Amino acid sequence: SQFYTLTDYPNGLPDRELFKLETQTLPDLAEGEVRIRNRWLSVDPYMRGRMSGVRTYVEPFELGKPMEGGAIGEVIETNDSSLKVGDKVSHMGGWRDIAQVPAQSATPLPDIDVPEQAYLGVLGMPGMTAWTGLNVVADCKPGDNVLVSAASGAVGSMAIQLAKAKGCHVVGIAGAAHKLAWLESLGVEPVSYRDRTAQELSDAIKLASPNGIDVYYENVGGTCLEAALSQINEGARIAVCGMIESYNAKTPTPGPSNLSQLVVRKAKMQGFIVADHWSNYPDFLNEVASQIAEGKIDYKETVKEGLESTPDAFLTLFDGGNTGKMLVKL
Ligand code: NDP
Repeated sequence: SQFYTLTDYPNGLPDRELFKLETQTLPDLAEGEVRIRNRWLSVDPYMRGRMSGVRTYVEPFELGKPMEGGAIGEVIETNDSSLKVGDKVSHMGGWRDIAQVPAQSATPLPDIDVPEQAYLGVLGMPGMTAWTGLNVVADCKPGDNVLVSAASGAVGSMAIQLAKAKGCHVVGIAGAAHKLAWLESLGVEPVSYRDRTAQELSDAIKLASPNGIDVYYENVGGTCLEAALSQINEGARIAVCGMIESYNAKTPTPGPSNLSQLVVRKAKMQGFIVADHWSNYPDFLNEVASQIAEGKIDYKETVKEGLESTPDAFLTLFDGGNTGKMLVKL
């Protein structure tokens, strides 16, 4: 089987050469293990945090060891009664073609009529993140004026649609023109952040949301956060999901100059990690799966083919090359 390792921890945007494709012969299955042929691999911005060599909320990748990540595959061999050959499962043995993992760490896919890779996107971790940030962290209510950054990405595109479905007025920040067009087609006010200062972005948000911002769903940080802070209403809630703008920064990035807006507007800003909320996954699935099966939620995927494309797929996340969920198809 083939798998990727990281050869060194990057400083700044990871160099393509840091990812090494290696080959191994898998040992016989131990008691309780299953062998899975991966069909879909997920690449996610949080993986950059695992490349820093420092423990954040997940352990760093170990240099020279198989990398990990979300994956969907089919059981091809089993040494555990809970899974049989042919079962489709989601698990964390990504960045490789064949995974050998404890059966208990692989979750059979629910019996819902959606493409299997949806469990890496809209019905998986990113979808659950959007739902949690919006409902649990930001306490989003019908009629709220909602702003979402990285709005055309996996998490953002779900957050905007869940907010729309609630009856909110929604503004989405994104880069490329085709992304802004997609946001518009979803009934969202599109705002580009490209080549804009925080002041210019703030003005554009104001035009798109004249009644201010009650909920800010933060995926980017930096200029977006500063612009959002200057448009928040009294009692605004900011759910800090991520700050991708700084993930490849070589030196610490400055904070927003207007953080005192939190005081003036008596606003609340809270970070969260979706894993802590996983007990709500059945509620999320209940609420969202039918909307997806009925086509009420539009989702896009950007797919690269073949295991060798995994590093490029990952790096694409940082230049905006993906619309919706970034995936690798094996
Ligand atoms: P996306 O699908 O949104 O992909 C990343 C997107 O971010 C890119 O397409 C790009 O869109 C935008 N982006 C990249 N670099 C920059 C930059 N320097 N400035 C502005 N925008 C940038 O990824 P996900 O949906 O998987 O993740 C979105 C956010 O959610 C991330 O911050 C991630 O870390 C966070 N997250 C947090 C979780 C948690 O538990 N807290 C769980 C999952 C994700 P564009 O073209 O618009 O620039």
